[in-house]
Amino acid sequence: MKARSKRILACVLAGFYGVWFAPLAQAYSFDMIVPDVRQPASISGGSSCPVKAHQLSPAGSIAFRWSTVLNTNPVTIVTQNQTASGQLTEIQQVIAQSMAVWMGVTGTALAAATFAPLTQTTTQNACGSDGVDSICFDQADAAFTPGVLAFTRVIVTDRIGLQVGSSPAATTVGQILDADIYFNPSGSQVAFATPQALPSNPTAYDLESVLTHELGHSLGFSHSAVWSAMMFPFAPAPGTFSGLRPTIQQPDAPLGDDDRTGLRVLYPNPADTLHQGAIRGQIFPANPLALPASPPGVTGVFGTHVVAMDEASGAVMGATMGGWSCTAPGPAQFDGTYEIDALAVGHSYTVYAEP
Ligand SMILES: [Zn+2]
Repeated sequence: MKARSKRILACVLAGFYGVWFAPLAQAYSFDMIVPDVRQPASISGGSSCPVKAHQLSPAGSIAFRWSTVLNTNPVTIVTQNQTASGQLTEIQQVIAQSMAVWMGVTGTALAAATFAPLTQTTTQNACGSDGVDSICFDQADAAFTPGVLAFTRVIVTDRIGLQVGSSPAATTVGQILDADIYFNPSGSQVAFATPQALPSNPTAYDLESVLTHELGHSLGFSHSAVWSAMMFPFAPAPGTFSGLRPTIQQPDAPLGDDDRTGLRVLYPNPADTLHQGAIRGQIFPANPLALPASPPGVTGVFGTHVVAMDEASGAVMGATMGGWSCTAPGPAQFDGTYEIDALAVGHSYTVYAEP
């Protein structure tokens, strides 16, 4: 894990009419959007407090298709089975398995059927702002700056009723209307291998790890600063994979506890009585004169990485970027507040903050 050398992705958050671009969005563990309060409350929700980007969770509500247009010269997706149909079957299994990783987390509102059955398309360059969630292995994009292996472009709405292409009209602010996952196609430098093909292709990146990370973005995650988290922004070194491989018994084995906690925060399950713990506080500078004079109203430290560690096991259970709080109707206060939710009750936690 030490040789994490390549940037996994620039998570580009493009939105319509009210957009947070990557540098701001990445300051949080989740992609957030500020509702467009210039609209009537029936459209904006009536509060300017930032909202987490999220998908709807009923069965079939996240419908991905993937483009079977693969590169042959150079090959960027390496499979064990070399026949044309066997290759597609193997890739499809990796995609389904990566989705099952996130669906395998207990104590969330996401169920096994939240992802609709995968479909395929033979369309070239199938990714775009069309309201159809797509996975592309062939599509060049300006976001592929040096070192970017893959990225996910997410369109989040800042108002109720908005549609993108053929997406349904948004019923909540923060709803993700389009999420497309792009794998770098350009590369003689970059190849991705299925878990079956990885051992014999040690210079390739693990397709399952990179895709599982990207699917996290499609669910509303930004990056985590916890190195053992799937949402850490750097890919595992070529020939290696993140965490453990998923198993029938533990389909979410590749994830870190920080990912699981984040998913429970994003998609809370009211029936989950275990993960109801929350730790909240504020981070202040030792010297209050260290606070910026501008903008006014900054009373706490912004951008602290606050970590909750299980005292018994030493495991990092959840971490967040602190710095603000917001009570409807807003606006956000830059008062140094952090909050880590969805922690298991009945445990003791050590909390520390770092820059
Ligand atoms: Zn990422």
